[in-house]
Amino acid sequence: MSDPRTDQIRVYYHTLFSAWGPQHWWPAHSRFEVIVGAYLTQNTSWTNVELALRSLRAAKLLSVAGVRRTPVHQLEKLIRSAGYFRQKAHRLKLFVRFLDEQHGGSLTRMFAQHTETLREELLALHGIGPETADSILLYAGNHAVFVVDAYTRRVLERHQMIAPGTSYEEIRKLFEQALSPVAGDGGNSQVGPTVAPTKSGPRGSSHSPSPMSTAERTARVQVFNEMHGLIVGVGKNFCQKSQMRCEQCPLQKYLPGKS
Ligand code: SF4
Repeated sequence: MSDPRTDQIRVYYHTLFSAWGPQHWWPAHSRFEVIVGAYLTQNTSWTNVELALRSLRAAKLLSVAGVRRTPVHQLEKLIRSAGYFRQKAHRLKLFVRFLDEQHGGSLTRMFAQHTETLREELLALHGIGPETADSILLYAGNHAVFVVDAYTRRVLERHQMIAPGTSYEEIRKLFEQALSPVAGDGGNSQVGPTVAPTKSGPRGSSHSPSPMSTAERTARVQVFNEMHGLIVGVGKNFCQKSQMRCEQCPLQKYLPGKS
């Protein structure tokens, strides 16, 4: 028997996508920029991450070669705005060392691995938890994994779809099972960039189109990509930690007791 929550998640996806359209995640020019962003965004706001990325870009160091040749103390200065800068600079250097030692310094070779194999490798690295590993896999590598974040957990808990303390893996599997049929055609057909809707109004948590957000990818990866961005839009705009603005939220009609 299929899990009724998968139908619910599909309805949420269609509701949010119809309301807000493509979210254009992850905003980046390259795969390495996504990876650096995934490290830097831990425990800080995206605005602070953008400042750090801008510093690295201005110094022409936002590349594997750039991080490889930069002494850690210089890297710390450049990413200071992202907070926990010593820890994050050290972890970025560790990532590049891992890439050099395990994959000859090639992101293409690293991402060519089977999803589960690479996921295990990433999770074994210092400073990479499931959310960071899956962000790298999905947004930099176009691997079909769903990224679960605090917003995902909060929305599901408030809609009584999961109990507090439900594991990351259980939530990830639930979303992957729910959203794979949305992609259709087995989910492996290639899709190009999606077209932004013309209507104005709230757009969730959308970014401007970027080379990474408009890259060709499978339909399944595209749907996982969009759903994560859409949930971030719900969490940031309506379903905040200390305040719920259900009256304006597109998911209000699905709140338990509302239908
Ligand atoms: S703001 Fe309200 S309606 Fe929207 S997701 Fe949160 S609990 Fe549900």
